[in-house]
Amino acid sequence: MTDPLVERMRPFGTTIFTEMSALAVRTGAVNLGQGFPDTDGPAEMLAAAAEALASGANQYPPLAGIPALRTAIAAHEQRFWGLGRDPDAEVAVTAGATEAIAATILALCEAGDEVVCFEPYYDSYAASITLAGAVRRPVTLRPGPTGRYEFDEGELRAAFGPRTRLVLLNTPHNPTGKVFTRAELTLIAELCQQHDAYAVTDEVYEHLVFSDAAETHIPLAGLPGMRERTLRISSAGKTFSCTGWKVGWATGPARLVSAMLRVKQFLTFVNASPLQPAVAVALGLPDSYFTGFTAGLQERRDRLVSGLTDAGLTVLPSEGTYFVTVDIRPLGGTDGIEFCRWLPERCGVVAVPTQVFYDHQDAGRHLIRFAFCKRAEVIDEAVRRLKTLN
Ligand SMILES: *Cc1c(COP(=O)(O)O)cnc(C)c1O
Repeated sequence: MTDPLVERMRPFGTTIFTEMSALAVRTGAVNLGQGFPDTDGPAEMLAAAAEALASGANQYPPLAGIPALRTAIAAHEQRFWGLGRDPDAEVAVTAGATEAIAATILALCEAGDEVVCFEPYYDSYAASITLAGAVRRPVTLRPGPTGRYEFDEGELRAAFGPRTRLVLLNTPHNPTGKVFTRAELTLIAELCQQHDAYAVTDEVYEHLVFSDAAETHIPLAGLPGMRERTLRISSAGKTFSCTGWKVGWATGPARLVSAMLRVKQFLTFVNASPLQPAVAVALGLPDSYFTGFTAGLQERRDRLVSGLTDAGLTVLPSEGTYFVTVDIRPLGGTDGIEFCRWLPERCGVVAVPTQVFYDHQDAGRHLIRFAFCKRAEVIDEAVRRLKTLN
């Protein structure tokens, strides 16, 4: 029998996370592969979800999300980023950021349209672009002289052309921990306007920029000329440590939000109604929640970074997100996939190779990613094990 899967999806095997998490279970390794926290989010949010569940909020919510959540999303964007949104027309709730990304690409791209993105990319990007019959035009992020990931301006300019439909930008960036600077964003904004392209921004780590980052988080939608052509996507999962909830959202001009919703209504229609009022509560938490969350992650980043350095790896700077990448060559590694298959057997720690997130795999062959969104004692145990490497 031939493979029933459509041809264009055949290059997408089971994800590296499935393989590495299975390896962690089999070897009893500390899993710093997949990026999910091992503690719960804010108690107020959990209590609100329990209450909603017990008080009958269990039927289909409106397509665009319950009004209380849309209002909370708009207020949050105003509070942190100064972006005023009309909760009735410019905000929509989705089944995680992942669905918002897929629905947006399916809604905006004709077959053959091109999507400019940066590699390494979040794994759903390539799949969503392919599902739409669109073509990805990746621009490579490479560690520069300071270790900070950079892109080449000429390469970015060359990625744009007559078929460019949109730019898909993730900042703060998974897996590199890069936070795009105002200068970089300004160039992206100019090219979008020059080529009349849309921008779709994945800002799920908007609250995870560390105090030693070169710059703070800047939403592309706030740059001159970009508001009208940018759909901004985020999610509760990372900010409120509830990655299993899959409550995300998209904000932007009404015509982009409604195009996304046109597709979204036939993918999931709506998502988990009792979680929506709970996320509304979380978005309204005082600033101290957000600053405490960032500081807590930064402290755990520092623990892991010093352990990785002691183990003899070259650690590239992580300015934000849940992740840090390292160069394995000082330990004699040349291929991240082989290294990550060997590491749990050798010392009981799981990481993920980032080369699988590139089209130009050679650019990332020597790089692997560790997640530090884990309890301090879990990170300390990983560090103890990594010390045995040298
Ligand atoms: C985790 C993650 C997502 C997925 O968010 P969900 O709300 O769980 O769908 C999207 N983009 C990036 C860069 C992520 O790291």
